[in-house]
Amino acid sequence: MVTRFVEALYPDWQQAFEGVRLLHRETTPYQELAVYETPGFGTLLALDGVVQTTTADEFVYHEMIVHPALVAHGAAKAVLVVGGGDGGCLREILKHPVERVVLAEIDERVVAVSKAFLPGLAAGAFDDPRVEVRIGDGLAFVAETQETFDVIVVDSTDPEGPGEALFTEKFYADCARILNPRGVVVTQSGVPFRQPRGLGLSYRRLASAFADVTFATCAVPTYVGGLMTLGWASQDPSLRRLGVESLRAVAEARGLATRYYTPEVHLAAFALPRYIQELLVP
Ligand code: SAM
Repeated sequence: MVTRFVEALYPDWQQAFEGVRLLHRETTPYQELAVYETPGFGTLLALDGVVQTTTADEFVYHEMIVHPALVAHGAAKAVLVVGGGDGGCLREILKHPVERVVLAEIDERVVAVSKAFLPGLAAGAFDDPRVEVRIGDGLAFVAETQETFDVIVVDSTDPEGPGEALFTEKFYADCARILNPRGVVVTQSGVPFRQPRGLGLSYRRLASAFADVTFATCAVPTYVGGLMTLGWASQDPSLRRLGVESLRAVAEARGLATRYYTPEVHLAAFALPRYIQELLVP
C-alpha cells in the first residue's frame, strides 16, 4: 500500500508527502497521472511525478493566474485556457461576466480524472454552457483557430514533455495573432529560484511577440522553491497602470469571491524581487 509520495521535480531536492493514500494511477498517452489523498494538503494531482495542484492550496494559483488579467481587462468576453485540464482556472474565470471559455487540453484523462477525484476544482465549470473543452495540442489549437480571445491563460505543465511546445516563440506568436486589442496572455512560468533559466527564456520568447512583458508572483506552498511566477504579456502597457481603486471597482462590481486575490495583492504581485528582475534580460 502506497503511503508516501515523493515529488520527482528536482534530482537533488524533493518534497515528500507522508501518510498518503493512492486514489488513482494510470499512464495516459501523454504522461503518468496519479491522485493521492494526503493528510495535510487534501487531494493531490501529480503528472509525471510533479505536483500539479492540491485541493488545499490550489486557490492561490488559480486565482492569481486568472483574476489580474480579467480584472485589469475589465470587459473580457472570450477566454482561452491552454492546458488547465483540472478545471481550476475555469472555475475562477466563470466568476467574471464572460460569454465563452475554450479549454484546449491535450490529455482527456486529466479532465476525466479531475472530474472524478477533484470535483471541487472545476466546481461544475465543465458543465457550464459557456465552456467548450477541446481535447488536443494547445500549440495546434492556437495555430489553427480562427477565433479571437480577450484573455489567454496558459495553465500548462513545465516545459518538458507535452508542455514544452507551450513555451515556444511559435506558440506565443500564434497567441498574439488570436489576441484581441487590450488582450492579455498569462502563463505558468515556474519557480525562478530553482528554474531561473526557464524564466529568462520565457521572458525573451514572450518579448518576441508582445510589447509589454513582465511577471507576477504568488506563494503556492506545494510549488516548492519560493515565489511562483506567472508571465504577463500584452500589446497594451496601460493594462498594468490601473490603480487599486479601479481594480477594486471591477472586483466589487462582480462580487468577486476570493481567498488570495485582492486589488492590493494584484498590484503587489508585479513588484518583483531583484533576483527575479535580474533574470529579465532581453
Ligand atoms: N497548475 C499546474 C502547474 O502550475 O504546473 C498545471 C496544471 S494543469 C493539470 C497542466 C495541464 O497542461 C495538464 O493537464 C497537461 O495535460 C496540459 N498540457 C501539457 N502540454 C499541453 C499541450 N501541448 N497542449 C494542451 N495541454 C497541455
